[in-house]
Amino acid sequence: MYADLDENGKKRVKYELPKADMHVHISMAWDDGRFIRAVKKGYTTLGPDFLTNRDNRYFADLSEHHFAYEAARKKAQLTPVGLSDIVQTYLQKIAQQGAIYAEISNSFRSGYDFDWQMEAIAAGIDAAKHNTGIESRIVVTTLRDHGYEQAEKAAQHLAKVKYRHVTAFGLVGNEEKDDFYNYAKSFKIAYNDAGLGLVPHVAEQYPANAIGFLDALPKEALNQGHTTDPRRIRAGHATTIHLSSDLMNEFAQNNICIESCISSNNRIGLPQRTLNYNIGDIIGSGADRQFAVDRPLSTYFNDKIEQHPITEFIQRGIPICLGSDNPLLQNTNISKEYSQTLRAGVDQKLLLTFTENAIKFANIDNETRQTLMGKVKEYESLIKGNSPPSATSNGYVHASNFLTHPNR
Ligand SMILES: [Zn+2]
Repeated sequence: MYADLDENGKKRVKYELPKADMHVHISMAWDDGRFIRAVKKGYTTLGPDFLTNRDNRYFADLSEHHFAYEAARKKAQLTPVGLSDIVQTYLQKIAQQGAIYAEISNSFRSGYDFDWQMEAIAAGIDAAKHNTGIESRIVVTTLRDHGYEQAEKAAQHLAKVKYRHVTAFGLVGNEEKDDFYNYAKSFKIAYNDAGLGLVPHVAEQYPANAIGFLDALPKEALNQGHTTDPRRIRAGHATTIHLSSDLMNEFAQNNICIESCISSNNRIGLPQRTLNYNIGDIIGSGADRQFAVDRPLSTYFNDKIEQHPITEFIQRGIPICLGSDNPLLQNTNISKEYSQTLRAGVDQKLLLTFTENAIKFANIDNETRQTLMGKVKEYESLIKGNSPPSATSNGYVHASNFLTHPNR
């Protein structure tokens, strides 16, 4: 229906299935050609075998991953033209894979560099939309390693200065450094003063973060009716909440969409603290609410994609969308991520649901949301009518359209 078999007999999602990439860090979305040029120019301390030696793109833990991240962009002194080109190239590439929407993130920094970067990313988005029709919006993130004060500073800046296509606020980085609840004020400023959706990384590595996240969200953000308000709440990864049924149920009850990044979760190990959890242990400490561990840790990070908890999340009614995270570091792209869900045990009938959820939980104006949902419905009806689409509205055209004598 939505998938076929590749040359190795593995299930692969069809290119024309409308897709959405809801979690991608633009600084690691270079294509291989750009990476090789950077190696040749000495812009990165990683060698060309980073792309060819399989083990190079598997990481024991998050700090090893961050080391590769920093090494990749060590001396990459990007210009506005270079950055706009990365954005355009990436978005056009995923548009060819069927993507109709993406939310791409860039990290906040003070001053002139941030201004030109935001302008360059917006230019890349505009060019890709002009050429392929793909819609994209920007998430501004701050690094938790820099503390909650930096997050508040970023949110305050975004409340004062409006950048084109910026519609959401996020958090990345070290989940064990501090309590997620410390970021409640930055969420409030970003949501209420800057008018942005909230899409932080949550419990990618450490499950207690999910409790702080649920408690730090502005109450009005959880209760909004989703009528004309463009702002949405999503949780990046949230993979480790699978340790507690109650925690997963709370995500489902609050209708919090999770951005699953299967390759990323598969390729980065977990910290000892999380590996040590046993059934009966308690997640959360001190003033936090506490949740009991009632499920064993799934070893999806140990090259066992079939153990990824995505199917468990779906069964419990948590809305799921997908993301490629750091495509260069994790050897992936959004088309591959859709196919990875099949390896993780998802029924192919559900593939289009990931795109529907992405659009429902996109930080985008209502008119664009309706247009994008229309493209998904159009594809669905073509498939259900048993006739494969000859052309989808996102620009995919089948060769049969170019036959001069199609009935010969
Ligand atoms: Zn990420």
